[in-house]
Amino acid sequence: MILKIIHLNDEPAEFQGEVPSDFLDWEGFHPTGPVSYEINAWIQEDKIYAHGHIFCEGTVSCARCLEELPITLDVPDYAGCYDLPENGDLDLTPHFREEILIGLPSYKKCELDEHSKCPFSGRYWGDVFSGTPGPPLADHWAALDRLKIEKKNKDKN
Ligand SMILES: [Zn+2]
Repeated sequence: MILKIIHLNDEPAEFQGEVPSDFLDWEGFHPTGPVSYEINAWIQEDKIYAHGHIFCEGTVSCARCLEELPITLDVPDYAGCYDLPENGDLDLTPHFREEILIGLPSYKKCELDEHSKCPFSGRYWGDVFSGTPGPPLADHWAALDRLKIEKKNKDKN
């Protein structure tokens, strides 16, 4: 989104619209629509100020079942202060990108329904979360020990 300085003065001016979301270009987030913005911008003492709301809808992978989960990345209180650009245009796109991607959750999991089923993948997770005891931890250590021994033997040969 390009702000043209000739459209700005010391009174906040309103800008709203959409820009294609391909600039987000982030492995963990798949946009399903454009980036929308509603911002005010103005100039004060050789600086451009921008303030408003930016958001984008998309999906992220579920940490449980790897299905794509819908998510809205919402920046309700975006605020920036920038130097006046020499050529008269200020590109807010990289700043939008930063703000939106900062809001990306590092860990997102589907909400299971009352039958312990994922509403997206339909998978049943009840056996995992019903408290059924897994193999005793000692088995894992024993397996690790065996691995070490195998490696040692390999190194000898
Ligand atoms: Zn799921």
